[in-house]
Amino acid sequence: MRLRHKPWAKDFIAEHSQYVIANPEQYKGKWHEVFGNDHPIHIEVGTGKGQFLAGMSVQNPGINYIGIELFDSVIVAALQKIVDQKLPNMKLLNVNAQNLTDYFDDNEIERVYLNFSDPWPKSRHSKRRLTYKSFLEIYEKILVKGGEVHFKTDNQGLFEFSLISFSEYGMQLKFVSLDLHNSDFEGNIMTEYEEKFSEKGQRIYRVEAKFMNEE
Ligand code: SAM
Repeated sequence: MRLRHKPWAKDFIAEHSQYVIANPEQYKGKWHEVFGNDHPIHIEVGTGKGQFLAGMSVQNPGINYIGIELFDSVIVAALQKIVDQKLPNMKLLNVNAQNLTDYFDDNEIERVYLNFSDPWPKSRHSKRRLTYKSFLEIYEKILVKGGEVHFKTDNQGLFEFSLISFSEYGMQLKFVSLDLHNSDFEGNIMTEYEEKFSEKGQRIYRVEAKFMNEE
């Protein structure tokens, strides 16, 4: 993600604290109160500019979506989409995914989406990949039993690493696609990165990985 310094970003976020939730630790275990309903909650880790989550929110009004994004200069673009499109079922957190257990209780989330996560190609940086074991431990804790991680990327190396990481963790792999846009998958919502890379002719990889922790 190319970062431009946006001095106004912090003010814009603070003015819209009903959408980019400030002090999210106070809502741990209470996210249904924030949305005002009991609908399932899905999160996207590394939301970027929010096109995927905004599209999913419109497509699935019976699901609540929370986007997790580290950089305020990027999350403002996702916030702008909520403001423009008036999306009642989409919220954002301007936080690091490493700390997700501070914001979400055990079993509070029904699904995790990872889209075009930073590949961190150097092996000495492998622990930073969002499909590394330590992140899977975090997702497993906040997800319902048998919860799923749905992952898309254009990066073959990251995809291979992630398939191994999911498998070694004991997760079940479902619907593995080595060419999503030429598969029979229906209802795909493209992310900003997905549009950019597929226009360049790159293949998109996708997998659903399920935690096998049901009693
Ligand atoms: N998902 C978007 C898409 O497909 O267009 C953005 C992809 S971009 C390559 C990855 C995004 O993940 C960046 O905006 C980055 O800031 C965010 N990110 C990376 N590590 C993160 C972390 N630990 N916590 C929260 N966001 C993170």
